[in-house]
Amino acid sequence: MPVWGARQAPAGGSAKLSSSRVCNRGSLRTVAVLDFLEAQIEALRASGSYRNPDDGNDRLRVMENARALGAEFIDASSNNYLNRSDYFPDVSRETQLSVPPGQLARLGAGASRLIHGTRPEHSELEAALSKWVGLERALLFSSGYAANVGVISALVRPDDLIISDELNHASIIDGCRLARAQIHITAHCDSSAIEAALLANAATHRCWVVTESYFSMDGDSPDLHAIRHLCNNYGAVMIVDEAHALGVFGPQGSGLCSASHVNADVLIGTFGKALGAQGAFVASSRVATNWLWNRARSFVYSTAMSPLLATSIEANVRAIRADDEARTRLGRMAFWFRSKLDANQIPVTAHSHGPIIPILYPNPTRAIKAAASLGQLGILTQAIRPPTVPENSSRIRLTLHAGLNQSQLERLVDSVIQTCTQ
Ligand code: PLP
Repeated sequence: MPVWGARQAPAGGSAKLSSSRVCNRGSLRTVAVLDFLEAQIEALRASGSYRNPDDGNDRLRVMENARALGAEFIDASSNNYLNRSDYFPDVSRETQLSVPPGQLARLGAGASRLIHGTRPEHSELEAALSKWVGLERALLFSSGYAANVGVISALVRPDDLIISDELNHASIIDGCRLARAQIHITAHCDSSAIEAALLANAATHRCWVVTESYFSMDGDSPDLHAIRHLCNNYGAVMIVDEAHALGVFGPQGSGLCSASHVNADVLIGTFGKALGAQGAFVASSRVATNWLWNRARSFVYSTAMSPLLATSIEANVRAIRADDEARTRLGRMAFWFRSKLDANQIPVTAHSHGPIIPILYPNPTRAIKAAASLGQLGILTQAIRPPTVPENSSRIRLTLHAGLNQSQLERLVDSVIQTCTQ
């Protein structure tokens, strides 16, 4: 009779179990049977794309550099565009709303949404989100990755066709793969390529067009109007990932679809960027969200979001909607910053706009060196290399946030110009 927790010998006897060599390094166990991965890691090293988890905390290192120079530390690498992640939001109003007097907000939901994990905090946040983006219903997910994978794979059927931008985020790509549908990849932000794919396929397949509204590594945007028009003409469904646009663009920060007066059929938003927290949502029709409630596996088979987190995010949604001043400031900063780079002939990605400012360094080693030089000056940036971006398009991904003051911004631009023109 098997005993829970006891290690069972595999079929064939205990000799096989001992072949999984388990060695001890000090008091910690290492697993020799996985050492074959070392050769794969070596291949990553040889191609210059290995990321070493033991490199330590870059942020701390750059902060120390800033301190040693007597300068302020500047974070020009995060997606915290509205500077919300540094503060615990004022949840007092929500605490009154959702939690009986004298009790603290709950940390854990205790179960998945379908198995009694649904709390008033979830429903209140979903109502606030659907109102914000102007769609009938919203559904929370534990991350943007989980949302894209769960939503696309649940909505799209194997005999459908997905038309996907070549630079779409990995979570969109993985959602498309999981759907087991045909996937047609189009050139970046190319509406005519989308039209050609629809023309060739719409009569025989249900078609889904999926794009980001503000591309995270390029800082550019597709023509959402044109895509909406094409989807209407060919009866296709339009899925838009607004991860980096929500909070930053549009009336009350409601995103680029809203700014372009375009209704996406399915809209994904994440809380890890301008919302300053963690998690994500999908917004769509009642019918679609009812289906996702039943069939999006990353929603159904996952513990519901922490009610405390949901309450905090709702407070941030309200604050962000009201803070046009921060959005306008961020927009002006980005415009000013770009004009300085332009005047110094520093190449940024074509058509980029807003707070994501990618400076191109086709050679990944040079991109890493440039990020290290900025780090020496107390400025945290990120060198982005393949496979995150295509070969020969490494870059320093600079991001601005609303918390930067004018003197920090000037120091940032001067340091970037100095580093990039060396
Ligand atoms: N979608 C886009 C466009 C993203 O850039 C990201 C994250 O970088 C995600 C989805 C995933 O979001 P999360 O970090 O919440 O998993």
